Amino acid sequence: MARIGFIGLGNMGLPMAGNLVKAGHAVVGFDLVGENLERAAGRGVNPERSAADAAKDAEIVVTMLPAGKQVLEVYQGGVLGAARANTLFIDSSTIDVASARSAHRLATEAGMLALDAPVSGGVGGAEAASLTFMAGGTTAAFAQAKPILESMGRRVIHCGDAGAGQAAKICNNMMLGINMIGVSEAFTLAEKLGLSHKALFDVAAASSGQSWALTSYCPVPGLVAAAPANNNYKPGFASALMLKDLKLAQEAAAVAGASTPLGAAAAQLFGLHNAWGEGGTDFSGIIHLIRGRGGQ
Ligand code: NAD
Repeated sequence: MARIGFIGLGNMGLPMAGNLVKAGHAVVGFDLVGENLERAAGRGVNPERSAADAAKDAEIVVTMLPAGKQVLEVYQGGVLGAARANTLFIDSSTIDVASARSAHRLATEAGMLALDAPVSGGVGGAEAASLTFMAGGTTAAFAQAKPILESMGRRVIHCGDAGAGQAAKICNNMMLGINMIGVSEAFTLAEKLGLSHKALFDVAAASSGQSWALTSYCPVPGLVAAAPANNNYKPGFASALMLKDLKLAQEAAAVAGASTPLGAAAAQLFGLHNAWGEGGTDFSGIIHLIRGRGGQ
């Protein structure tokens, strides 16, 4: 069993750290918010006074932070200096590819192993230890991380070198954002054509229009029992997080010179959805924007 330092004990980090404890690891943790540290202590995580303290005796350091800025600040703010040589640094935050590569460089220059390992599956997946991890880094770093990640998730996929996990994450979520808008447009058109929701669902679910956004997460209530549409669009996956990932995809596309016109349109539409004050609701609520406000 490993000694693990866990930095960032928010909505995702708290249950993930708790699952490491359940798997028998010795976990110490740090978060800027004292209340989060107390909650983590309730799940068997030993609270530390700083990120550096959480890293100093660890074999593995996991970060679960809001964005690239915080990851680089934590890495440069004493954590890499405090850790022992060859400590494995796993960053599971969703961050921009450029910052992920900088984090790898900083860690390896300091004599550490590094892996970017963002997740999909949301808070429910974090609680249930059923997350999917998309990892980028060397084969050696991946091999060491795999059993640890398996304590927090069901699928662990090695996507390639530094930054490849983040690349996979934003490509997947760009597809998802575009798909959800497509499904929402189709239901909106069906409504105008007098076609029932159920008829469109039954046909498309068994036809070439089928997608996860339709059959697992339908934006119209009454068709998929577990979909947030049946729970007043309570997330699930918040529209603000979808917007974050679509912006990361656009940033990466600009740097890489990739043409992603539908990804750009999706980022604009989710930007409007957030500007309407809907950022805290599930991203499938984008259907209200497609219909026009009040067209629910
Ligand atoms: P969150 O805001 O709930 O948690 C982030 C935590 O980091 C907070 O508790 C904050 O206090 C802490 N923090 C910030 N700066 C810090 C620092 N310098 N040192 C120590 N702690 C610091 O966010 P979350 O929902 O847990 O998401 C974390 C990451 O996972 C994000 O990158 C997000 O995009 C990604 N993600 C979230 C979900 C989801 O459904 N919530 C799903 C997939 C991926």
